[in-house]
Formats: sequence, C-alpha cells, structure tokens
Amino acid sequence: MIIQKIGVVGAGHMGCGIAGAFASSGYDVTLMDVDTKALAQATGNIALQLDEIAAREETEERRGAGAHIRMTPNLTDLGSSDLIVEAATENEHLKHKIFADLTPHLKSETILTSNTSSFSITRMAGVTDRPEQFMGLHFMNPVPSTKLVELIRGIATSRETFETIRSVVQRLGKTVVELEDYPGFAVHRIMISMINEAVYTLHEGVGSVIDIDTSMRMGAKHPMGPLELADFIGLDTCLAIMNSLRDGLADTKYRPCPLLVKYVEAGWLGRKVGRGFYDYRGKVPVPSR
Ligand code: NAD
Repeated sequence: MIIQKIGVVGAGHMGCGIAGAFASSGYDVTLMDVDTKALAQATGNIALQLDEIAAREETEERRGAGAHIRMTPNLTDLGSSDLIVEAATENEHLKHKIFADLTPHLKSETILTSNTSSFSITRMAGVTDRPEQFMGLHFMNPVPSTKLVELIRGIATSRETFETIRSVVQRLGKTVVELEDYPGFAVHRIMISMINEAVYTLHEGVGSVIDIDTSMRMGAKHPMGPLELADFIGLDTCLAIMNSLRDGLADTKYRPCPLLVKYVEAGWLGRKVGRGFYDYRGKVPVPSR
C-alpha cells in the first residue's frame, strides 16, 4: 500500500511534532483538533520546530514545510487519509471514541495508528472495523530531535501493516524498535517508573527538587533531572501512564505517587501551563514549592 496522505488527530505537543515530521519528509498532512485555539497555535509551533531542525542540520530543505499542513476541527476531513496517527490527550475512552467516530469515514485500506504512551493497542484496535490494520506508532518527545519510534504490534496487527509502517517511519529518517503490546511498551515503562520514584523521593523528603534533579543529571549522567523531565512531558501524561501501568500490569510497584496526583489536581501540569515541579513564569525556572 502506498502511503501519501496522513491524518493526524490532536494538535498538542506531540501532534504538532508528528505533523511537522511527516510534512518535512514530503507527505500530505491534515492536522485535526477539537480545540480551535490549539489549531491556531499549531502553525507557529510547527514552523518553530522545523526552523530549529534547519538551523541544527544546516539545511534549508525542511524549513517552510509546515505551511502546507491543512488544519481542521472536523474529524470527517481526515476521510481520504491513507494513514491516521492519533495523538490526542492520553485518555483511553477519548481515544476509543475518536476511532469509533472516524472509521466509518475512512477508505477500507486506511491504516490506523495511535501514539498512545500506555494504553492497549489490541483493545483500541477492537473498537475499529480493522484490527489487522491497527498498530501502535509511538513517537518520542521532542519529535524533531528524537530519532527513536516504537512500533507496537497488537494481537491482530498484520505483517503487511507492520512492514508498511516500518517503511513510512524509515522515510522520516527515524530508527524503529519492534515491541509487543504491554503497558508503557519499553521507553515509558522504564522512564515513567523512574520519574514516579523521583516524585516519591521528593514526597518522602529525601531531597529537594534541585537535589534530586542534580543527583540524576550529574550522578547518572542523565541530560535532564527526572522532575524537570516530568514537567517537560506533562504531569497529567505521567500520571495517566502510571495509572495504566498499575492497571495493566496489576502490580503495586506501579502505584502513582500521591504527590504526583496532588500536582495534577492543582492543575500544575508542567511546562505547558507554566508550572509543575518548577515555576516557569519568571526568567529562570525555580522550584514551585
Ligand atoms: P497535549 O495535551 O499536548 O495535546 C493533546 C491534544 O489533543 C490537545 O490539543 C487536545 O485539544 C486534543 N484533543 C483532545 N480531545 C480531542 C479529540 N476528541 N479530537 C481531537 N483532538 C483532541 O498532549 P501530548 O503531550 O501531545 O500527548 C498526545 C499523545 O501523545 C498522548 O497519547 C500521549 O500519551 C502521547 N505521547 C506523549 C509524549 C509526551 O512526552 N508528552 C510522548 C510520547 C507520546
């Protein structure tokens, strides 16, 4: 199957990165979001990301590709897509509804993928009319500079679907790993569990926000401290992934830290709202409490 028209659902942090990656590799992209404010900001966000790549790679090739992305608030405008990449909010019920609403408008050969970080690909495929043409396509954050993409095979995913998506991702210049459909797959199961442990360390008073982040940056040579990383990912997304690890793997070692829950309840969701473990509203980020 030839893939040329890509429909991306969700124009948030990941959706913009994914739409930009496809557009700059020559695909026709339509980006859909129910939030017209997110759509209005998407063009600028994508242009910024592609300008950064152009500067880093010292090439003008990708600059401006974002201007060709079509924006729409209507799911039905994705009807002619060859490939759907769902990157809406990490909420399983919402994702199931998106696929159930979308599939009646699609061609029978259209391949469906989800960028979910933690939900079952097999369960999501089950709400569609084509489980064999459904798989996980998990881009990493930030999409423009992170080379890895996790490819997740659901129970019913066909070999043809898997190989088609593998070649699409390779055209983006990314590296793939093949994984089975278990909560969190590989990167997030390991990374979000580490973030949760860092929040427990803070919760139990082992160290301050700065000391915990400095420990992992300088002691384990991580490029970012775990709390800084949590803010970058979004605390709501981290919590959703922990809940899904706990529910899907049925092991109390994945219990989300109560402090992480409190921050999300407070609406302190990280960088995207200006406050998480750090407060980003001043010139330099400082611990928020
Ligand atoms: P985000 O909050 O930045 O964006 C989500 C977008 O989805 C919002 O713009 C929202 O308006 C939109 N949306 C909500 N309901 C919708 C609907 N019914 N139809 C269309 N759009 C809808 O979230 P994000 O960080 O971009 O995450 C998106 C997905 O990518 C999630 O599944 C998340 O787990 C996954 N992911 C996130 C990261 C990360 O580090 N943030 C990394 C890898 C994968």
